[in-house]
Amino acid sequence: MKSPIPDYLTKVLENARANDDGAPAAYIETLANADTSKMAVALATVDGKVYSAGDDQVEFSIQSISKAFVYALAIEDAGLSRVLEKIGVEPSGDKFNHLSLEKKTNRPMNPMINAGAITAHSLVVGPDATLEERTDRILNALSKLAGRQLHVDEEVYEAELRDADRNMAIGYMLKAAGIISCDPRVVVKGYIRQCAINVTVNDLAIMAATLCNAGVHPVTCERIMPQLSVRQVLSVMTTCGMYDAAGDWVSRVGFPAKSGVAGGIIGALPGQVGIAAFSPKLDERGNSVRGVIMCEQLSNDMGLHMMDVSQLARATVQTHVARIVAGKHEPHHPHCNKDVVVFKMRGAVRFAGSERLTRAIARELGDPDPRDPGSGAHSDACAVVFSFRDAYSLSSIARRIVHEDVNRLLSDGKSVVVIDPSRVLEWDLKTNPKYPVVVENETQALDHIGGAGCKAVSQDDSW
Ligand code: GLU
Repeated sequence: MKSPIPDYLTKVLENARANDDGAPAAYIETLANADTSKMAVALATVDGKVYSAGDDQVEFSIQSISKAFVYALAIEDAGLSRVLEKIGVEPSGDKFNHLSLEKKTNRPMNPMINAGAITAHSLVVGPDATLEERTDRILNALSKLAGRQLHVDEEVYEAELRDADRNMAIGYMLKAAGIISCDPRVVVKGYIRQCAINVTVNDLAIMAATLCNAGVHPVTCERIMPQLSVRQVLSVMTTCGMYDAAGDWVSRVGFPAKSGVAGGIIGALPGQVGIAAFSPKLDERGNSVRGVIMCEQLSNDMGLHMMDVSQLARATVQTHVARIVAGKHEPHHPHCNKDVVVFKMRGAVRFAGSERLTRAIARELGDPDPRDPGSGAHSDACAVVFSFRDAYSLSSIARRIVHEDVNRLLSDGKSVVVIDPSRVLEWDLKTNPKYPVVVENETQALDHIGGAGCKAVSQDDSW
């Protein structure tokens, strides 16, 4: 069967093509002459599958989209606290190339405006690094993310350098304010080279997918950025990524994003999908007109708004009660005809899911509550089973809560069996002197509870 996703992307593209508003960036000559008929869109999953439509082989300069990744490099090279000393995280509401600094601290407002991005560039490698050293570091890192060797577009670089007065002014302002210590011309030139790196939508989608995948590259499975850096980058993309249209973007489209003046946009919804769109004509805020339309449609059609509830806590826990029927090898097993309570956890279990599990345990195995008919019905169950077979992950708080639940049941003298083939529970004998029986599958759990070959008959027969 042919995947319907490329056909869908073609429709998204054609839908956006109907809008011919906007104009390419005028202040960089090469961009001003861009072929405005070109447009493309791409999606990359967190396991590395890329879907695209339109001019997905056309290269364009990454421009401001580089700011997100170079911010991550600055964090890696200088450390988050040093980066926060030098660059704030507040949306400025000003134009991207505004000459302004935060009152009192003198910091640029955030790393997504030029003042913050030029500062982030200066923190890559170290204060004494040469232009070449920083360019190599950035080019290598971006190439690793894209999965191919990227190059600086020398024509774009030269064109932007010819008219770089404003960015040079920002560089000198930063030096005068004590935010950068190195030669402003070297830093601004390096920053302009970083912006002139060429990419395609396919490159950008896979780069964004690394952000969605908590910093692990979806294709090579290599950890590229620590999880904390990814969180920091996605946070500033959310609040400051779309120039001065951040609020409008978050409410209408609702995924962390960054756009560039060549007409590219990346979006990254954690755990879901990396997105890239390209079309050179920009709106008055500097965002690609058709790119925004494509992102908005993808968000609406695919439910990508980060404020949409993706998994209700109640969907995470299922409770069953089953009666043990002894097998022929052990017909008089002591658990024969006794009840076993089974709790199945599904998906990514976080605080709300584990809290719900705790309540379900208390309801089934605790004392009866007169206000809750049916509660306490299985306090004499012969065993309790937790199945994590369909649980993809446990957050640390969820794991702590489940450990505590299991510990309490063990202390009450219950027999506890955990089905945990992927070891998401990470039972640690150092912190948990008592331990449950951990098995791979349901047959092993049953054999342990009711003897070899026993059966369990549950009301809905799902165990
Ligand atoms: N190189 C561009 C500049 O600094 C990047 C701007 C952008 O993409 O927003 O003006």
